[in-house]
Amino acid sequence: MLYDNRIFYKNYNEILQRTDAEGWDYYSCPNPECRAKGCFKRYSTYIRHLVILEDENLEDLEIEILRLKCLSCKHTTNILPMEAIPFWQYSITLVFLILSIVTSPKGQAISKIAEDIESSFQLFYVYLRIFNEYRDKLILLFRSLSLCNREENPPIRTLVAMACSKPPPFPQEDYMRTNRSPLFLHRRNTVSYPLRFGFYFD
Ligand SMILES: [Zn+2]
Repeated sequence: MLYDNRIFYKNYNEILQRTDAEGWDYYSCPNPECRAKGCFKRYSTYIRHLVILEDENLEDLEIEILRLKCLSCKHTTNILPMEAIPFWQYSITLVFLILSIVTSPKGQAISKIAEDIESSFQLFYVYLRIFNEYRDKLILLFRSLSLCNREENPPIRTLVAMACSKPPPFPQEDYMRTNRSPLFLHRRNTVSYPLRFGFYFD
């Protein structure tokens, strides 16, 4: 999977319209045994869902995603918009919004939130659990960005507020730069193939 910090769902068409002749020069193959640079050609496209919040309404978008083939090792890879988390339909911005509501001290009842976003309790707890798995790495990231000091061990609510303190692709881009993997990557048990990531940061 390739992430490019210039590519979001709103401008994804730029990638779809790009020809092999215009090149994929800046992308390196995510296969660790290959890493060939600029060695891709278009392979196929597929439809992926991305649920976003637009004007306070949930929108389930169907996005055409481009798959590229590496001419060196013959593996294929896809280019994901920055908002997309592998295996999840909800955009990372929406996940943080849900987390900020769930952890809000004013505390809307979770049932009300579930109603508002037409989702289920279970999903919120899944997000909370996954967030907890990433908690330590997020704290390290926020410390490195001086959003909190070394002694601080902020509670989830504060961490979510820090994550929402700058416009997207923060904190995903910073997390990817440091960890070479997307935030909230949570692999389904059914996935057996190796996950390989490549990044291009402008
Ligand atoms: Zn390759």
